[in-house]
Amino acid sequence: MVWQKHRFIAIIENMVEKAIPKVIPIRIDEGRGLTPSIGAQLHTPHGNTQDRRGRILRDLRISVTDRCNFRCTYCMPKEVFDQNYPYLSHKELLSFEEITRLTSIFSSLGVEKIRLTGGEPLLRKNLEVLIDMLAQVRTPEGKPLDLTLTTNGSILRKKAAALKAAGLQRLTVSLDGLDDVIFKKMNDVDFPVADVLDGIAAAQEVGFANIKVNMVVKKGTNDHEIVSMAKHFKGSGIILRFIEFMDVGSSNGWNMAEVLPSKEVIARINAVFPLEAAEANYSGEVAQRWRYQDGSGEVGVISSVTQTFCHECTRARISTDGQMYLCLFANEGFDFKTLLRSGKSDLEIANAIMNTWVARDDHYSEIRGSNTANQSTGSRKVEMSYIGG
Ligand code: SAM
Repeated sequence: MVWQKHRFIAIIENMVEKAIPKVIPIRIDEGRGLTPSIGAQLHTPHGNTQDRRGRILRDLRISVTDRCNFRCTYCMPKEVFDQNYPYLSHKELLSFEEITRLTSIFSSLGVEKIRLTGGEPLLRKNLEVLIDMLAQVRTPEGKPLDLTLTTNGSILRKKAAALKAAGLQRLTVSLDGLDDVIFKKMNDVDFPVADVLDGIAAAQEVGFANIKVNMVVKKGTNDHEIVSMAKHFKGSGIILRFIEFMDVGSSNGWNMAEVLPSKEVIARINAVFPLEAAEANYSGEVAQRWRYQDGSGEVGVISSVTQTFCHECTRARISTDGQMYLCLFANEGFDFKTLLRSGKSDLEIANAIMNTWVARDDHYSEIRGSNTANQSTGSRKVEMSYIGG
């Protein structure tokens, strides 16, 4: 505790010296999140927990590590996430047993889709053991969960077979371009495109059928890669999705001038490969789907800046250390780790989740949209690597 505070002070001094603007560590070990309320009367868990805006809890993202081997400039910039950064220690992380227990409780509340993320989830030791444990969880109707994972693909070649054997069903791989110079500049650790493509190939070889590739588009940095990425994945069975550069966290120097609206992404692809709008697969789907008119597949766009979708958000997030967040842009979480470690029953924890969700009222992206065209709301937000992208 004490040494972590010292480290924090050293980081601040270092930042002041370098005059880096608005760089705030995601967590300072000075306190925990909010205490979730179990309530005086316990209710039977059910799958119709609605928040104040009528949104139903349906999916859960779990960050399994706050560490990553990439230093993407829009996510974990080197200047902040350096060797002095106060990453969580092993004992602060939720254990596999705790993650599985929490997942099982969430599934009793109607959650059917689980996405493991981070940080880089494949860096969590023995992740396949966790996947195997999660694959045993059943919904109240006796169905297995839809288990998926987001990765930068860097060690996918090594891990793909074990992930598949453990029961992982789907995969999303992040890749911001095909041009090595651009990609290396964005991941900032000199990682080559070819190795990510090889990871994707490995996943296909072991039988992953439903692979998606996410490309974060930063105007002026990699937007000229949009059409070549579309061309590369067109007809491959892999669905490419373009994500607007978002103002997550407090360290990536976000600016609206660097956001290329998804509308523009679609226009650029459409000019070369004609597209038509496709129906959403399910209500609340984050990506808008566009189909190639020649039948060679589809692309998606995730427009959380220019076309917000807060009103259909059915997602909760569990941070690496067991805090429940109700929004990617939140600045406070609810401390479920302490509940898990204090002998509370599954029923009590389920009630705490229900009470937390019913009080939910956030709609950050809509507020950001109406606030100003150029700035995020400016309040301190947790980093994506900790809360899970
Ligand atoms: N390490 C894994 C990966 O690279 O996919 C999982 C974690 S990463 C935080 C999850 C996703 O969030 C990635 O697709 C990443 O590109 C995206 N992401 C991170 N920061 C972002 C930002 N500022 N705007 C938009 N997307 C972002």
